[in-house]
Formats: sequence, structure tokens, C-alpha cells
Amino acid sequence: MAQITPAQMGTDVFNHLVNSPSNPNNCACGRYMYYSSVCNHAYQVVVHKCGNTTAVSGVASFCKTPAPRHIIWATQVNVPCQHC
Ligand SMILES: [Zn+2]
Ligand SMILES: [Zn+2]
Repeated sequence: MAQITPAQMGTDVFNHLVNSPSNPNNCACGRYMYYSSVCNHAYQVVVHKCGNTTAVSGVASFCKTPAPRHIIWATQVNVPCQHC
């Protein structure tokens, strides 16, 4: 089991992207849930937007809402969750 710091979630999520059949073009848009290796509770959701869809305001948005949810099992965050 790999462990990362909270600051590494933003880049580590790219190792766990899932091309979801429920998305248009099977893209990897979604909510990726990290767990804490300390208390085994959900730690934080990292939102990934593939960039193919842009909102009127110009910011990237999910290709489909609600976006698919994925739980990351192979990597955990090395601090307790906010509730512990
Ligand atoms: Zn997408
Ligand atoms: Zn906890």
C-alpha cells in the first residue's frame, strides 16, 4: 500500500484515473476518494475534470453530472481524517 501526504493528492490522482463508461467518450472525469491509512476513514475527494468540457464561465467542468465516483484503494493518505 502506497502512502502519500495530503499535498500529493493533486498529482497522485493522475495515477488512479478511471476511464468510466458512464462518461461521454469514456473520459476520466470523476470524484476520486482517498482514504486515511491512519484511521481508515474517508479522507478527501479529489475532483478530476478531463478538460474536454468547459462551462460558460470558461472553467473546466464535468463532462457529465453527476460525475462518477471512484474509491482509490492502492494509495492512502498518511494522516488521520478531519474527524479524528
Ligand atoms: Zn470528461
Ligand atoms: Zn478518521
